[in-house]
Amino acid sequence: MTSPHDSDLAYNLARIEERILTACTQAGRPREEVTLVAVSKTFDVPALQQAYALGVRDFGESYVQEWSEKHVHLPADIHWHFIGHMQSNKVKYLGDAITLIHSVSRNSVLKEIAKQMTRPQPILLQFNVGGEEQKSGASPAELEPLLERIIHNPHVTLQGLMTVPPFHDDPELVRPHFKALRDLQRRAIAWLEARDLLSSHPCDQLSMGMSGDFEVAIEEGATIIRVGSAIFGTRDSKA
Ligand SMILES: *Cc1c(COP(=O)(O)O)cnc(C)c1O
Repeated sequence: MTSPHDSDLAYNLARIEERILTACTQAGRPREEVTLVAVSKTFDVPALQQAYALGVRDFGESYVQEWSEKHVHLPADIHWHFIGHMQSNKVKYLGDAITLIHSVSRNSVLKEIAKQMTRPQPILLQFNVGGEEQKSGASPAELEPLLERIIHNPHVTLQGLMTVPPFHDDPELVRPHFKALRDLQRRAIAWLEARDLLSSHPCDQLSMGMSGDFEVAIEEGATIIRVGSAIFGTRDSKA
């Protein structure tokens, strides 16, 4: 695991903040509508401590084992976001310590959450809106069946949707995928509203946008952006 230089981190965070502000202004949205999640996977505990000292409270991790080892060394007021591929046999290691699981896309995981968590677990449903074969995430056609499972599962609350779109150098090419996730969110909200369930499953969060394309995501309604390399620097090949 690696550690960026202190001053780099401060500089990077300030740059990201400027970019977020510019995008919000452009989109006519208040800055407070967008939560920045600092994606710290593959970076070591001192790196996270540095980011914490600079005011970061929302961290994103992708690997259950790595997160388990790291989080015990960090302050308790951190909001942990689990953004990695979610397998049902991993749920038990997360305990109740994750503020938001971004990457639920299967009923087997929902069932395991019901077994393991002692409080209702806030989740996002992850969709593969690009239809890529190798990517995790549910297909849009699975939305209603998954909602049906969620509303009969008292151990989860649906906070919104998440996607990892296909990678493009040009962020404009990602825009249609962000729009597609927003359309799915509208569909989910209409479905929940028709059943009078929005108070327990608000579904008002859209987790989309990474280092290279979060401005476009903010323009398309992102409420959570997941930014890794633009904060901590380039990762080792693992991720
Ligand atoms: C690694 C990762 C990110 C961060 O990507 P960057 O391009 O480094 O900003 C965001 N979301 C998910 C799901 C990731 O796995």
